[in-house]
Amino acid sequence: MPTALITGITGQDGSYLAEFLLARGYHVVGTSRDTRQLGTSRIRHLVRDIQVEKMDLLMQDEMQVILEKRQPDEVYNLAARAYGSELYGEPVLTGEVNGLAAARMLEAIRVVNPGIHFFQASSSEMYGRSNEVPQDERTRFDPQNPYAAAKLYAHCLTSIYRASYGMFACSGILFNHESPRRGLEFVTRKITNSAAKIKLGLIDKLELGNLDSRRDWGYAGDVVHAMWLMLQQLAADDYVIATGETHSVRELCELAFSHLGLNYEDHVVHDIKLMRPTDNTLRVGDPSKALRLLGWRPTLTFKGLIGMMVESDLEIVKGNRARQP
Ligand code: NAP
Repeated sequence: MPTALITGITGQDGSYLAEFLLARGYHVVGTSRDTRQLGTSRIRHLVRDIQVEKMDLLMQDEMQVILEKRQPDEVYNLAARAYGSELYGEPVLTGEVNGLAAARMLEAIRVVNPGIHFFQASSSEMYGRSNEVPQDERTRFDPQNPYAAAKLYAHCLTSIYRASYGMFACSGILFNHESPRRGLEFVTRKITNSAAKIKLGLIDKLELGNLDSRRDWGYAGDVVHAMWLMLQQLAADDYVIATGETHSVRELCELAFSHLGLNYEDHVVHDIKLMRPTDNTLRVGDPSKALRLLGWRPTLTFKGLIGMMVESDLEIVKGNRARQP
């Protein structure tokens, strides 16, 4: 039975990855800053099937001890300060958690067992203002915030350890991916959750910024499949994981509200305070390499994804399900 270690297991991706690996017969070990919260976290339904270690990503010694104790075959480094407000806030902490922690983990792996297969969650935010469209593995990075700069450091370290020490270290350059487990701070979930509340008469309006802003939105369940595929190849490499399509916030609203028999134009209010500085670059990934070499395919359409999120939020708002499914 192979063992996988997932940092950030309580996050959206960590919870899907844990389910995915358990279904494939893995022994799954996760790490979290606070193991007392597991009963209310996104992995509360898995706590009997997995082990969770309390780990601070800032402590190299702790990482080494956990690697020695658990002897994983694969390590997935998903823990990060990843919310919108964390893109700029507390840049030193972001540098530590999103950047240096990957260096600590790679170094701990090199010392304990350099044969471990390592996955790093890189981000399309690293492309920043790069004006090549679509973006692929060769597109120049031009990060524009501390989150992206720290992610780029971790991304570079991953390829340095691969080239310098021959380690099996891969980065997935992940474009936005969503699910019913996405945090309520993100626009996708804000819309699906508000549409459900409006349907049930709990609120009437939803305030949003730029409705014409476009994103390449995939499904988190598909993305974790790609992470796993990367670690099963004969050679380690980096891959863009994206759908290759973009949709606007307006289309998202249309789909979410019409799924509930509502017209978004009756409820969505434009709020200038929520506008972000415009980004002239169209962020859309070219996943050709992953499609060709990993045989990876997204399974959910954008419409299917939004429908799934709306249905889940309807159950949550009715009180039939916990806040985070
Ligand atoms: P998420 O839901 O925010 O989960 C991240 C996890 O990281 C949290 O559950 C948390 O676990 C841990 N964490 C947060 N702050 C931390 C800190 N200061 N120190 C240590 N651990 C901390 O993120 P996600 O959406 O699953 O994303 C997974 C990874 O993919 C992240 O690295 C993210 O940057 C990257 N990514 C995501 C997307 C996307 O669209 N979702 C796109 C590109 C890249 P505990 O609280 O239990 O410690």
